[in-house]
Amino acid sequence: MTEKPYKLASRDYHPESTVISLPALPGHDPVLIGGKEVVLVAGPCSVEPREIMRQIARTLKTHGVGLMRAGAFKPRTSPYSFQGLGVEGVRILREIRDAFGLRFVTEVMDTRDVELVAETADIIQIGARNAQNYSLLKAVGRTRTPVLLKRGIAGTIEELLMSAEYIMSQGNEQVILCERGIRTYERATRNTLDLNAVPLLKQWTHLPVAVDPSHGTGSRDLVIPMAGAAVAAGADMLLVEIHPSPSTAISDGAQTLDHDQFADMILRTAKIAEAVGRSLRSS
Ligand code: PEP
Ligand code: MN
Repeated sequence: MTEKPYKLASRDYHPESTVISLPALPGHDPVLIGGKEVVLVAGPCSVEPREIMRQIARTLKTHGVGLMRAGAFKPRTSPYSFQGLGVEGVRILREIRDAFGLRFVTEVMDTRDVELVAETADIIQIGARNAQNYSLLKAVGRTRTPVLLKRGIAGTIEELLMSAEYIMSQGNEQVILCERGIRTYERATRNTLDLNAVPLLKQWTHLPVAVDPSHGTGSRDLVIPMAGAAVAAGADMLLVEIHPSPSTAISDGAQTLDHDQFADMILRTAKIAEAVGRSLRSS
């Protein structure tokens, strides 16, 4: 056996797959991430105004999707771009959570906000730009909230696992690894979605693996095929951006599915899940 620099994340020392369980909401089963079901997470890139958030929440409920994504704190390339609604965005997430009984995945960017985000999020997201922000990784490692850790913009698979190790070394072993595309010489797509990472990570680690085909492609037309490919490759979770009117979304409209496309994605992806002996979580 080759010695792995990531001990807690390695399958060598923990052969059985980790299944992360989100507690059951009234009238629902608990959500298990890393089990037989492929868990779908969908929502806007940024927290949107309340009425749009409610529209998206209703669509998720219609399809039986129990987990919503939306960023209150947004890592933007330009300091002049919209930076997210911040604390007000977190307040909106709480309102939607309480009104619709949805769970949330939302990003934290600053160690000072970890407590606030951990109180509201069912899963805390560490974005690609913070994949090697070691003080932030340690801070979320001190919480007991599951963490969705995105692969760095140009991060290797081993670096992703070492970042997971930072979180786990603080006692939080509930880490989901997320392939979201990497920077390559190819500019036809926003990023190159490295689906090699999925079966490789499943071999190297016991942690659940998520795929984000929205950031992985940057282009709405490519999201549905790559969501299917991710499930075929063995992904345990899909993270997709949706909005009732993507062209008016606050951020990332070009890679955002509208609600009809989202319904289509669910139908197509469910068939692929079935073909590989799994099912798409729909309750
Ligand atoms: C996001 O999920 O909206 C996001 C900013 O993702 P990433 O960190 O992968 O770019
Ligand atoms: Mn986005």
